[in-house]
Amino acid sequence: SLPVESGIIRSKYSPVHISDDVSIPQFFTSYNPDNVRNDKVVHVDLIKGKELTYGGLREGAARGAWGLKNNLGLKSGEIVCILAQNASDFITLAHSIWWAGAVVSPINPHLTVKDILHCLRLVKPSHVAVSVVFYDKAQEALQRYSDTQSSKPTLFSVIDRIDNIKKFPEDISGTSFQESLPPYDLEKRSSKDVVASIIYSSGTTGAMKGVKISHYNHIINILQGRASLPVRQNSDQRIIFFAPYCHIYGLGTVILNNMWIGNFTCALPSFDLETYCQQFSKYRATLAYLVPPIVLQLVASEIPRKYDFSALECMVVAAAPLKKALQERIKQVFPQTKITQGYGLSECSPSVLMQHESEEHLVGTCGRLLSTTEARLVNPATMKDVIGTNQEGELWVRGPQTMMGYVGNEEATQATFVGEWLRTGDIMVRDEYDNFWVTDRLKEMIKYKGLQIAPSELEDLLVQHPKVIDAAVCATYSSEEASEIPLAYVSLAEPHHLRPVGEIHEMMEEVRAWIDGQVAGYKKLRGGVFHLQELPKNPSGKILRRELPAKKKEGRIGV
Ligand code: AMP
Repeated sequence: SLPVESGIIRSKYSPVHISDDVSIPQFFTSYNPDNVRNDKVVHVDLIKGKELTYGGLREGAARGAWGLKNNLGLKSGEIVCILAQNASDFITLAHSIWWAGAVVSPINPHLTVKDILHCLRLVKPSHVAVSVVFYDKAQEALQRYSDTQSSKPTLFSVIDRIDNIKKFPEDISGTSFQESLPPYDLEKRSSKDVVASIIYSSGTTGAMKGVKISHYNHIINILQGRASLPVRQNSDQRIIFFAPYCHIYGLGTVILNNMWIGNFTCALPSFDLETYCQQFSKYRATLAYLVPPIVLQLVASEIPRKYDFSALECMVVAAAPLKKALQERIKQVFPQTKITQGYGLSECSPSVLMQHESEEHLVGTCGRLLSTTEARLVNPATMKDVIGTNQEGELWVRGPQTMMGYVGNEEATQATFVGEWLRTGDIMVRDEYDNFWVTDRLKEMIKYKGLQIAPSELEDLLVQHPKVIDAAVCATYSSEEASEIPLAYVSLAEPHHLRPVGEIHEMMEEVRAWIDGQVAGYKKLRGGVFHLQELPKNPSGKILRRELPAKKKEGRIGV
Protein backbone atom coordinates (compact mmCIF):
# COMPACT_ATOMS: atom_id res chain seq x y z
CA SER A 1 0.00 0.00 0.00
CA LEU A 2 1.15 3.54 -0.73
CA PRO A 3 2.22 5.67 2.18
CA VAL A 4 -0.31 8.22 3.37
CA GLU A 5 0.18 11.43 1.43
CA SER A 6 -0.03 13.65 4.42
CA GLY A 7 2.68 16.11 3.59
CA ILE A 8 2.14 17.24 0.02
CA ILE A 9 3.87 20.55 -0.72
CA ARG A 10 2.51 22.46 -3.71
CA SER A 11 4.07 25.07 -5.93
CA LYS A 12 3.20 28.69 -5.16
CA TYR A 13 3.30 29.66 -8.84
CA SER A 14 0.29 29.57 -11.13
CA PRO A 15 -0.02 26.32 -13.01
CA VAL A 16 0.91 25.93 -16.67
CA HIS A 17 -0.90 23.87 -19.27
CA ILE A 18 -0.23 22.65 -22.77
CA SER A 19 -2.23 20.11 -24.69
CA ASP A 20 -0.55 16.81 -25.39
CA ASP A 21 -0.89 16.99 -29.17
CA VAL A 22 2.08 19.33 -29.66
CA SER A 23 5.55 18.01 -30.52
CA ILE A 24 8.79 19.86 -29.74
CA PRO A 25 9.15 21.11 -33.36
CA GLN A 26 5.52 22.25 -33.42
CA PHE A 27 6.04 24.01 -30.11
CA PHE A 28 9.06 25.76 -31.60
CA THR A 29 7.26 26.84 -34.76
CA SER A 30 3.89 27.82 -33.35
CA TYR A 31 4.92 29.60 -30.17
CA ASN A 32 7.36 32.49 -30.28
CA PRO A 33 6.96 33.88 -26.80
CA ASP A 34 8.78 37.20 -27.14
CA ASN A 35 8.22 37.89 -30.85
CA VAL A 36 11.88 37.38 -31.55
CA ARG A 37 12.98 38.38 -35.05
CA ASN A 38 14.06 35.52 -37.26
CA ASP A 39 17.42 37.13 -38.01
CA LYS A 40 18.39 37.47 -34.36
CA VAL A 41 21.57 35.53 -33.55
CA VAL A 42 20.70 33.16 -30.72
CA HIS A 43 23.79 30.97 -30.56
CA VAL A 44 27.47 31.21 -31.39
CA ASP A 45 30.12 28.56 -30.86
CA LEU A 46 33.82 28.99 -30.26
CA ILE A 47 34.91 26.13 -32.49
CA LYS A 48 34.24 27.70 -35.88
CA GLY A 49 32.53 30.87 -34.69
CA LYS A 50 29.39 29.57 -36.33
CA GLU A 51 26.27 31.61 -35.65
CA LEU A 52 22.72 30.38 -35.48
CA THR A 53 19.71 32.65 -35.83
CA TYR A 54 16.25 32.23 -34.36
CA GLY A 55 14.66 31.56 -37.76
CA GLY A 56 17.77 29.73 -38.98
CA LEU A 57 17.37 27.06 -36.35
CA ARG A 58 13.83 26.25 -37.49
CA GLU A 59 14.79 26.29 -41.15
CA GLY A 60 17.91 24.24 -40.46
CA ALA A 61 15.84 21.71 -38.55
CA ALA A 62 13.23 21.42 -41.32
CA ARG A 63 15.93 20.84 -43.93
CA GLY A 64 17.99 18.70 -41.61
CA ALA A 65 14.99 16.46 -40.94
CA TRP A 66 14.39 16.10 -44.67
CA GLY A 67 18.02 15.14 -45.20
CA LEU A 68 18.20 12.72 -42.29
CA LYS A 69 15.18 10.94 -43.72
CA ASN A 70 16.02 11.06 -47.40
CA ASN A 71 19.79 10.90 -47.39
CA LEU A 72 20.42 8.80 -44.31
CA GLY A 73 17.22 6.76 -44.08
CA LEU A 74 16.26 7.91 -40.58
CA LYS A 75 12.74 6.88 -39.55
CA SER A 76 10.55 8.30 -36.84
CA GLY A 77 11.10 6.60 -33.49
CA GLU A 78 14.69 5.66 -34.32
CA ILE A 79 17.48 6.81 -32.05
CA VAL A 80 20.43 9.02 -32.99
CA CYS A 81 23.41 9.16 -30.65
CA ILE A 82 25.59 12.27 -30.74
CA LEU A 83 29.22 12.41 -29.58
CA ALA A 84 30.36 16.00 -29.98
CA GLN A 85 31.33 19.22 -28.24
CA ASN A 86 28.99 22.15 -27.72
CA ALA A 87 28.48 23.82 -31.07
CA SER A 88 25.81 25.50 -33.18
CA ASP A 89 25.57 22.45 -35.44
CA PHE A 90 24.99 20.22 -32.40
CA ILE A 91 21.86 22.28 -31.72
CA THR A 92 20.63 22.22 -35.31
CA LEU A 93 21.23 18.47 -35.43
CA ALA A 94 19.27 17.83 -32.23
CA HIS A 95 16.33 19.87 -33.56
CA SER A 96 16.51 18.14 -36.94
CA ILE A 97 16.22 14.78 -35.21
CA TRP A 98 13.15 15.91 -33.25
CA TRP A 99 11.73 17.49 -36.39
CA ALA A 100 12.02 14.11 -38.10
CA GLY A 101 10.24 12.43 -35.17
CA ALA A 102 13.35 10.56 -34.03
CA VAL A 103 15.06 10.44 -30.63
CA VAL A 104 18.09 12.51 -29.58
CA SER A 105 20.54 10.62 -27.39
CA PRO A 106 23.69 12.61 -26.67
CA ILE A 107 26.50 10.61 -25.07
CA ASN A 108 29.25 12.27 -23.04
CA PRO A 109 32.12 12.01 -25.55
CA HIS A 110 34.70 12.01 -22.75
CA LEU A 111 33.58 8.57 -21.66
CA THR A 112 35.79 5.58 -22.42
CA VAL A 113 35.16 3.21 -25.31
CA LYS A 114 33.74 0.71 -22.84
CA ASP A 115 31.25 3.25 -21.45
CA ILE A 116 30.21 4.39 -24.93
CA LEU A 117 29.66 0.77 -25.86
CA HIS A 118 27.43 0.42 -22.79
CA CYS A 119 25.33 3.39 -23.99
CA LEU A 120 25.08 1.99 -27.54
CA ARG A 121 23.93 -1.37 -26.20
CA LEU A 122 21.34 0.33 -24.02
CA VAL A 123 19.66 2.39 -26.73
CA LYS A 124 20.56 0.58 -29.97
CA PRO A 125 20.82 3.65 -32.18
CA SER A 126 20.11 3.56 -35.88
CA HIS A 127 22.51 6.47 -36.46
CA VAL A 128 25.54 7.95 -34.70
CA ALA A 129 26.85 11.49 -35.23
CA VAL A 130 30.42 12.23 -34.24
CA SER A 131 32.89 15.10 -34.40
CA VAL A 132 36.49 14.49 -35.42
CA VAL A 133 37.98 14.73 -31.89
CA PHE A 134 35.95 11.74 -30.75
CA TYR A 135 36.01 9.82 -34.00
CA ASP A 136 38.57 7.13 -33.08
CA LYS A 137 36.79 6.37 -29.85
CA ALA A 138 33.38 6.24 -31.51
CA GLN A 139 34.76 4.01 -34.28
CA GLU A 140 36.17 1.54 -31.80
CA ALA A 141 32.97 1.46 -29.75
CA LEU A 142 30.89 1.04 -32.91
CA GLN A 143 33.12 -1.71 -34.17
CA ARG A 144 32.76 -3.66 -30.95
CA TYR A 145 29.04 -2.93 -30.90
CA SER A 146 28.49 -4.05 -34.48
CA ASP A 147 30.26 -7.36 -33.84
CA THR A 148 27.30 -8.36 -31.70
CA GLN A 149 24.50 -6.76 -33.75
CA SER A 150 22.92 -7.78 -37.01
CA SER A 151 22.70 -4.25 -38.35
CA LYS A 152 25.26 -1.49 -38.08
CA PRO A 153 24.31 2.11 -37.14
CA THR A 154 24.89 4.69 -39.86
CA LEU A 155 27.77 6.97 -38.92
CA PHE A 156 27.93 10.63 -39.97
CA SER A 157 29.94 13.62 -38.85
CA VAL A 158 29.00 16.91 -37.30
CA ILE A 159 31.15 20.04 -36.73
CA ASP A 160 34.15 18.67 -38.66
CA ARG A 161 34.60 16.88 -41.92
CA ILE A 162 35.89 13.31 -41.69
CA ASP A 163 37.13 11.43 -44.78
CA ASN A 164 34.57 9.20 -46.48
CA ILE A 165 31.79 10.11 -44.10
CA LYS A 166 28.84 12.39 -44.79
CA LYS A 167 28.84 15.60 -42.80
CA PHE A 168 25.85 17.27 -41.20
CA PRO A 169 24.46 19.61 -42.40
CA GLU A 170 26.41 20.19 -45.65
CA ASP A 171 26.18 16.71 -47.21
CA ILE A 172 22.88 15.77 -45.66
CA SER A 173 20.36 18.60 -45.23
CA GLY A 174 17.99 19.74 -47.93
CA THR A 175 18.91 22.96 -49.67
CA SER A 176 15.57 24.37 -50.75
CA PHE A 177 12.05 24.84 -49.49
CA GLN A 178 11.06 21.66 -51.38
CA GLU A 179 13.73 19.77 -49.50
CA SER A 180 12.35 20.46 -46.07
CA LEU A 181 9.78 18.76 -43.87
CA PRO A 182 6.88 20.09 -41.83
CA PRO A 183 7.42 19.76 -38.08
CA TYR A 184 6.83 16.24 -36.75
CA ASP A 185 3.16 15.75 -35.83
CA LEU A 186 3.35 12.91 -33.27
CA GLU A 187 1.48 10.56 -35.63
CA LYS A 188 -1.73 10.79 -33.58
CA ARG A 189 -0.08 9.83 -30.33
CA SER A 190 0.06 11.79 -27.11
CA SER A 191 3.24 13.82 -26.64
CA LYS A 192 3.46 12.12 -23.24
CA ASP A 193 3.98 8.78 -24.95
CA VAL A 194 6.55 9.79 -27.53
CA VAL A 195 10.21 9.69 -26.48
CA ALA A 196 12.15 12.81 -27.50
CA SER A 197 15.47 12.27 -25.73
CA ILE A 198 17.44 9.63 -23.92
CA ILE A 199 19.92 10.94 -21.38
CA TYR A 200 22.31 8.79 -19.33
CA SER A 201 22.05 8.66 -15.55
CA SER A 202 22.76 6.10 -12.87
CA GLY A 203 19.64 7.16 -10.96
CA THR A 204 19.52 6.05 -7.37
CA THR A 205 21.60 2.89 -7.71
CA GLY A 206 23.67 0.74 -10.05
CA ALA A 207 25.15 1.51 -13.44
CA MET A 208 24.31 4.10 -16.09
CA LYS A 209 20.78 3.85 -17.45
CA GLY A 210 18.94 5.61 -20.27
CA VAL A 211 16.40 8.17 -19.04
CA LYS A 212 13.46 8.47 -21.45
CA ILE A 213 12.18 12.04 -21.71
CA SER A 214 9.02 12.68 -23.71
CA HIS A 215 8.15 15.63 -25.94
CA TYR A 216 5.67 16.64 -23.26
CA ASN A 217 8.28 16.44 -20.47
CA HIS A 218 10.60 18.82 -22.32
CA ILE A 219 7.92 21.29 -23.37
CA ILE A 220 6.27 21.52 -19.97
CA ASN A 221 9.61 21.97 -18.20
CA ILE A 222 10.34 25.00 -20.40
CA LEU A 223 6.93 26.44 -19.53
CA GLN A 224 7.32 25.67 -15.84
CA GLY A 225 10.58 27.60 -15.73
CA ARG A 226 9.14 30.56 -17.56
CA ALA A 227 6.06 30.72 -15.34
CA SER A 228 8.18 30.57 -12.20
CA LEU A 229 11.03 32.91 -13.07
CA PRO A 230 9.78 35.58 -15.47
CA VAL A 231 12.66 37.90 -14.50
CA ARG A 232 15.27 35.84 -16.33
CA GLN A 233 13.19 33.80 -18.74
CA ASN A 234 13.09 36.30 -21.58
CA SER A 235 14.88 36.95 -24.83
CA ASP A 236 16.90 39.89 -23.45
CA GLN A 237 19.39 37.55 -21.79
CA ARG A 238 22.93 37.00 -23.00
CA ILE A 239 24.45 33.82 -21.64
CA ILE A 240 27.89 32.23 -21.63
CA PHE A 241 27.57 28.47 -21.26
CA PHE A 242 30.15 25.76 -20.74
CA ALA A 243 28.30 22.68 -19.41
CA PRO A 244 28.16 19.89 -21.98
CA TYR A 245 25.08 19.70 -24.19
CA CYS A 246 25.03 15.94 -23.63
CA HIS A 247 24.08 16.59 -20.01
CA ILE A 248 20.48 17.50 -19.22
CA TYR A 249 21.75 20.85 -17.88
CA GLY A 250 22.90 21.79 -21.38
CA LEU A 251 20.17 20.04 -23.31
CA GLY A 252 17.36 21.49 -21.20
CA THR A 253 18.76 24.96 -20.63
CA VAL A 254 20.35 25.82 -23.96
CA ILE A 255 19.19 23.46 -26.70
CA LEU A 256 15.56 23.71 -25.61
CA ASN A 257 14.82 26.58 -23.25
CA ASN A 258 17.10 29.30 -24.62
CA MET A 259 16.53 28.34 -28.23
CA TRP A 260 12.78 28.59 -27.72
CA ILE A 261 12.81 31.90 -25.86
CA GLY A 262 15.33 33.38 -28.26
CA ASN A 263 17.99 34.74 -25.96
CA PHE A 264 21.63 34.62 -26.89
CA THR A 265 24.05 31.87 -25.86
CA CYS A 266 27.77 31.69 -26.46
CA ALA A 267 28.92 28.12 -25.91
CA LEU A 268 32.37 26.87 -25.00
CA PRO A 269 33.39 23.49 -26.44
CA SER A 270 35.19 22.76 -23.17
CA PHE A 271 35.90 24.80 -20.08
CA ASP A 272 38.88 27.11 -19.93
CA LEU A 273 38.76 29.94 -17.38
CA GLU A 274 40.45 32.61 -19.48
CA THR A 275 38.33 31.95 -22.57
CA TYR A 276 35.24 31.80 -20.41
CA CYS A 277 35.92 35.17 -18.80
CA GLN A 278 36.79 36.78 -22.13
CA GLN A 279 33.32 36.00 -23.45
CA PHE A 280 31.65 37.83 -20.58
CA SER A 281 33.37 41.05 -21.62
CA LYS A 282 32.93 40.44 -25.32
CA TYR A 283 29.19 39.76 -25.21
CA ARG A 284 28.36 41.77 -22.11
CA ALA A 285 26.70 38.65 -20.74
CA THR A 286 23.79 39.12 -18.35
CA LEU A 287 23.29 35.57 -17.14
CA ALA A 288 25.59 32.68 -16.26
CA TYR A 289 24.71 29.06 -15.56
CA LEU A 290 27.38 27.55 -13.35
CA VAL A 291 28.41 24.55 -11.28
CA PRO A 292 30.16 24.98 -7.90
CA PRO A 293 33.74 24.15 -9.09
CA ILE A 294 33.52 26.98 -11.64
CA VAL A 295 32.23 29.31 -8.93
CA LEU A 296 35.36 28.42 -6.97
CA GLN A 297 37.59 29.26 -9.92
CA LEU A 298 35.85 32.60 -10.33
CA VAL A 299 36.56 33.54 -6.71
CA ALA A 300 40.01 31.97 -6.35
CA SER A 301 41.69 33.07 -9.57
CA GLU A 302 43.03 36.46 -10.61
CA ILE A 303 41.91 35.90 -14.19
CA PRO A 304 38.32 37.16 -13.80
CA ARG A 305 39.65 40.49 -12.44
CA LYS A 306 41.02 41.31 -15.88
CA TYR A 307 37.63 41.12 -17.53
CA ASP A 308 34.43 43.13 -17.51
CA PHE A 309 31.57 41.39 -15.77
CA SER A 310 29.59 44.58 -15.22
CA ALA A 311 26.62 43.45 -17.32
CA LEU A 312 26.27 40.20 -15.37
CA GLU A 313 22.98 40.40 -13.52
CA CYS A 314 22.51 36.85 -12.32
CA MET A 315 24.36 33.60 -11.72
CA VAL A 316 22.42 30.36 -11.48
CA VAL A 317 24.39 27.58 -9.81
CA ALA A 318 23.06 24.04 -10.22
CA ALA A 319 23.88 20.36 -10.78
CA ALA A 320 25.83 19.81 -7.55
CA PRO A 321 25.85 21.06 -3.97
CA LEU A 322 27.11 24.62 -3.47
CA LYS A 323 28.54 25.21 -0.01
CA LYS A 324 27.24 28.21 1.87
CA ALA A 325 30.71 29.69 2.40
CA LEU A 326 31.43 29.56 -1.32
CA GLN A 327 28.11 31.21 -2.12
CA GLU A 328 29.00 34.01 0.28
CA ARG A 329 32.47 34.44 -1.23
CA ILE A 330 31.17 34.70 -4.77
CA LYS A 331 28.77 37.40 -3.65
CA GLN A 332 31.70 39.40 -2.28
CA VAL A 333 33.55 39.14 -5.58
CA PHE A 334 30.44 39.95 -7.66
CA PRO A 335 28.43 42.25 -5.37
CA GLN A 336 26.27 43.58 -8.20
CA THR A 337 25.27 40.09 -9.39
CA LYS A 338 22.38 38.06 -7.97
CA ILE A 339 23.56 34.61 -6.91
CA THR A 340 20.89 31.91 -7.02
CA GLN A 341 20.69 28.13 -7.09
CA GLY A 342 18.63 25.67 -9.04
CA TYR A 343 18.04 21.99 -8.45
CA GLY A 344 17.11 19.30 -10.89
CA LEU A 345 17.90 15.85 -12.16
CA SER A 346 17.88 14.05 -15.49
CA GLU A 347 14.83 12.10 -14.33
CA CYS A 348 12.87 15.38 -14.06
CA SER A 349 13.81 16.82 -17.48
CA PRO A 350 15.58 18.42 -15.32
CA SER A 351 14.14 21.36 -13.34
CA VAL A 352 12.34 20.95 -10.02
CA LEU A 353 13.42 23.81 -7.75
CA MET A 354 14.62 27.33 -8.45
CA GLN A 355 15.67 30.09 -6.14
CA HIS A 356 14.00 33.37 -7.01
CA GLU A 357 16.37 36.33 -7.16
CA SER A 358 14.27 38.24 -4.68
CA GLU A 359 15.21 35.55 -2.18
CA GLU A 360 18.93 35.83 -2.72
CA HIS A 361 19.42 36.41 1.02
CA LEU A 362 18.47 32.76 1.69
CA VAL A 363 22.00 31.52 1.18
CA GLY A 364 22.30 27.81 0.45
CA THR A 365 18.72 27.21 -0.60
CA CYS A 366 17.98 25.76 -4.00
CA GLY A 367 14.66 27.50 -3.97
CA ARG A 368 11.03 26.68 -4.34
CA LEU A 369 9.03 24.23 -6.37
CA LEU A 370 8.55 25.25 -9.97
CA SER A 371 5.06 25.85 -11.28
CA THR A 372 2.87 22.73 -11.55
CA THR A 373 5.16 20.67 -9.32
CA GLU A 374 4.32 18.89 -6.07
CA ALA A 375 6.70 17.40 -3.56
CA ARG A 376 6.91 15.44 -0.37
CA LEU A 377 9.76 14.86 2.04
CA VAL A 378 9.67 11.23 3.09
CA ASN A 379 11.60 9.56 5.88
CA PRO A 380 13.34 6.71 4.03
CA ALA A 381 13.33 4.44 7.07
CA THR A 382 9.64 4.74 7.93
CA MET A 383 8.40 5.76 4.44
CA LYS A 384 6.25 8.36 6.19
CA ASP A 385 6.11 12.02 5.25
CA VAL A 386 8.04 14.30 7.56
CA ILE A 387 5.78 17.11 8.58
CA GLY A 388 7.11 20.44 9.64
CA THR A 389 10.13 22.51 8.84
CA ASN A 390 13.81 21.69 9.19
CA GLN A 391 13.25 17.97 9.19
CA GLU A 392 15.15 15.78 6.79
CA GLY A 393 13.38 13.60 4.29
CA GLU A 394 13.94 12.25 0.80
CA LEU A 395 12.45 14.53 -1.86
CA TRP A 396 9.69 12.88 -3.86
CA VAL A 397 8.41 14.76 -6.88
CA ARG A 398 5.11 14.60 -8.76
CA GLY A 399 4.72 16.69 -11.86
CA PRO A 400 4.45 16.65 -15.64
CA GLN A 401 8.25 16.78 -15.94
CA THR A 402 8.97 13.37 -14.38
CA MET A 403 10.52 10.99 -16.90
CA MET A 404 8.77 8.21 -18.79
CA GLY A 405 11.15 5.64 -17.29
CA TYR A 406 14.49 3.95 -17.99
CA VAL A 407 15.08 2.32 -21.37
CA GLY A 408 14.55 -1.42 -21.19
CA ASN A 409 14.76 -1.47 -17.41
CA GLU A 410 11.34 -1.91 -15.89
CA GLU A 411 12.84 -2.94 -12.58
CA ALA A 412 14.79 0.29 -12.13
CA THR A 413 11.81 2.33 -13.33
CA GLN A 414 9.56 0.70 -10.78
CA ALA A 415 12.07 1.18 -8.01
CA THR A 416 12.23 4.91 -8.82
CA PHE A 417 8.50 5.56 -8.83
CA VAL A 418 6.05 5.06 -5.99
CA GLY A 419 2.79 5.50 -7.83
CA GLU A 420 3.17 8.85 -9.61
CA TRP A 421 5.86 10.00 -7.22
CA LEU A 422 9.47 10.04 -8.36
CA ARG A 423 12.03 9.34 -5.66
CA THR A 424 14.97 11.70 -6.20
CA GLY A 425 17.41 10.07 -3.79
CA ASP A 426 18.23 13.50 -2.36
CA ILE A 427 17.72 14.40 1.27
CA MET A 428 16.34 17.88 1.91
CA VAL A 429 14.76 20.10 4.50
CA ARG A 430 12.36 22.98 3.96
CA ASP A 431 11.46 26.17 5.79
CA GLU A 432 8.01 27.55 6.52
CA TYR A 433 7.84 29.25 3.09
CA ASP A 434 8.67 25.96 1.34
CA ASN A 435 12.19 26.90 0.38
CA PHE A 436 14.26 23.73 0.13
CA TRP A 437 17.82 22.93 1.15
CA VAL A 438 19.72 19.84 0.02
CA THR A 439 21.36 18.34 3.11
CA ASP A 440 22.50 14.89 2.03
CA ARG A 441 22.24 12.28 -0.69
CA LEU A 442 20.59 8.95 -0.15
CA LYS A 443 21.39 7.56 -3.57
CA GLU A 444 24.75 6.14 -4.45
CA MET A 445 25.63 8.66 -7.14
CA ILE A 446 28.79 10.76 -6.77
CA LYS A 447 28.89 14.13 -8.52
CA TYR A 448 32.31 15.27 -9.72
CA LYS A 449 32.02 18.84 -11.03
CA GLY A 450 28.39 18.24 -11.91
CA LEU A 451 29.04 14.98 -13.75
CA GLN A 452 27.78 11.67 -12.43
CA ILE A 453 29.96 8.84 -11.22
CA ALA A 454 28.29 5.54 -10.33
CA PRO A 455 30.16 3.95 -7.39
CA SER A 456 29.09 0.46 -8.45
CA GLU A 457 30.89 0.90 -11.75
CA LEU A 458 34.21 1.67 -10.03
CA GLU A 459 33.63 -1.13 -7.52
CA ASP A 460 33.07 -3.64 -10.33
CA LEU A 461 36.37 -2.58 -11.84
CA LEU A 462 38.24 -2.63 -8.53
CA VAL A 463 37.37 -6.24 -7.79
CA GLN A 464 38.80 -7.19 -11.17
CA HIS A 465 42.24 -6.24 -9.87
CA PRO A 466 43.99 -9.49 -8.92
CA LYS A 467 44.97 -8.27 -5.46
CA VAL A 468 41.57 -6.89 -4.51
CA ILE A 469 38.90 -9.13 -3.04
CA ASP A 470 36.29 -6.55 -2.13
CA ALA A 471 35.74 -2.87 -2.79
CA ALA A 472 33.46 0.00 -1.91
CA VAL A 473 33.43 3.51 -3.35
CA CYS A 474 31.92 6.61 -1.79
CA ALA A 475 32.12 10.37 -2.09
CA THR A 476 34.28 12.68 -0.06
CA TYR A 477 34.23 16.46 -0.40
CA SER A 478 37.25 18.33 -1.72
CA SER A 479 37.24 22.01 -0.85
CA GLU A 480 40.16 22.61 -3.24
CA GLU A 481 37.92 21.52 -6.09
CA ALA A 482 34.57 22.59 -4.59
CA SER A 483 33.33 19.16 -5.58
CA GLU A 484 32.68 15.68 -4.39
CA ILE A 485 35.42 13.24 -5.37
CA PRO A 486 35.29 9.43 -5.36
CA LEU A 487 37.25 7.50 -2.78
CA ALA A 488 37.71 3.73 -2.64
CA TYR A 489 38.09 1.24 0.17
CA VAL A 490 39.48 -2.15 -0.69
CA SER A 491 40.25 -5.33 1.15
CA LEU A 492 43.00 -7.52 -0.18
CA ALA A 493 42.91 -11.05 -1.49
CA GLU A 494 45.98 -12.31 0.35
CA PRO A 495 46.64 -12.17 4.06
CA HIS A 496 47.94 -8.71 4.62
CA HIS A 497 48.25 -8.30 8.37
CA LEU A 498 51.82 -9.49 8.32
CA ARG A 499 52.84 -7.27 5.49
CA PRO A 500 54.92 -4.18 6.08
CA VAL A 501 52.98 -0.94 5.94
CA GLY A 502 54.99 0.31 2.98
CA GLU A 503 54.05 -2.68 0.93
CA ILE A 504 50.33 -2.17 1.43
CA HIS A 505 50.78 1.48 0.63
CA GLU A 506 52.40 0.52 -2.65
CA MET A 507 49.56 -1.84 -3.44
CA MET A 508 47.03 0.94 -2.90
CA GLU A 509 49.02 3.14 -5.28
CA GLU A 510 49.08 0.36 -7.79
CA VAL A 511 45.33 -0.20 -7.57
CA ARG A 512 44.63 3.51 -7.89
CA ALA A 513 46.85 3.89 -10.96
CA TRP A 514 45.32 0.77 -12.47
CA ILE A 515 41.80 2.17 -12.13
CA ASP A 516 42.70 5.70 -13.20
CA GLY A 517 44.26 4.28 -16.34
CA GLN A 518 41.00 2.79 -17.54
CA VAL A 519 38.21 5.17 -16.60
CA ALA A 520 37.05 8.47 -18.10
CA GLY A 521 39.11 11.37 -16.70
CA TYR A 522 36.36 12.69 -14.47
CA LYS A 523 35.85 9.31 -12.81
CA LYS A 524 39.43 8.96 -11.47
CA LEU A 525 39.79 8.02 -7.81
CA ARG A 526 40.78 11.54 -6.78
CA GLY A 527 39.91 10.79 -3.16
CA GLY A 528 42.43 7.96 -3.03
CA VAL A 529 42.37 4.24 -2.31
CA PHE A 530 42.33 3.04 1.29
CA HIS A 531 42.81 -0.33 2.80
CA LEU A 532 40.24 -1.83 5.16
CA GLN A 533 40.36 -5.31 6.72
CA GLU A 534 36.66 -5.66 6.12
CA LEU A 535 34.00 -3.50 4.50
CA PRO A 536 30.88 -2.56 6.43
CA LYS A 537 28.05 -4.77 5.17
CA ASN A 538 24.59 -5.72 6.24
CA PRO A 539 23.78 -9.38 6.99
CA SER A 540 22.79 -10.03 3.38
CA GLY A 541 26.13 -8.77 2.15
CA LYS A 542 25.12 -5.36 0.79
CA ILE A 543 27.77 -2.71 1.29
CA LEU A 544 26.67 -0.07 3.77
CA ARG A 545 28.00 2.80 1.74
CA ARG A 546 26.72 5.44 4.06
CA GLU A 547 28.94 4.11 6.83
CA LEU A 548 32.02 4.41 4.68
CA PRO A 549 33.05 8.03 5.11
CA ALA A 550 33.37 7.43 8.85
CA LYS A 551 35.56 4.48 8.04
CA LYS A 552 38.05 6.70 6.32
CA LYS A 553 39.74 7.42 9.64
CA GLU A 554 39.94 3.73 10.46
CA GLY A 555 41.46 2.80 7.13
CA ARG A 556 44.99 2.10 8.21
CA ILE A 557 46.84 2.84 5.08
CA GLY A 558 45.97 4.51 1.87
CA VAL A 559 47.12 6.74 -0.90
P1 AMP B 1 21.92 14.79 -12.99
O1 AMP B 1 20.84 13.84 -13.33
O2 AMP B 1 23.24 14.40 -13.55
O3 AMP B 1 21.53 16.18 -13.29
O4 AMP B 1 22.12 14.71 -11.40
C1 AMP B 1 21.10 15.06 -10.53
C2 AMP B 1 21.60 15.12 -9.11
O5 AMP B 1 22.53 16.20 -8.93
C3 AMP B 1 20.51 15.42 -8.10
O6 AMP B 1 19.72 14.30 -7.80
C4 AMP B 1 21.34 15.92 -6.93
O7 AMP B 1 21.90 14.87 -6.21
C5 AMP B 1 22.43 16.72 -7.61
N1 AMP B 1 22.07 18.14 -7.65
C6 AMP B 1 21.52 18.82 -8.66
N2 AMP B 1 21.34 20.12 -8.33
C7 AMP B 1 21.78 20.27 -7.07
C8 AMP B 1 21.87 21.37 -6.15
N3 AMP B 1 21.50 22.60 -6.47
N4 AMP B 1 22.37 21.12 -4.92
C9 AMP B 1 22.76 19.89 -4.57
N5 AMP B 1 22.73 18.82 -5.40
C10 AMP B 1 22.24 19.00 -6.63
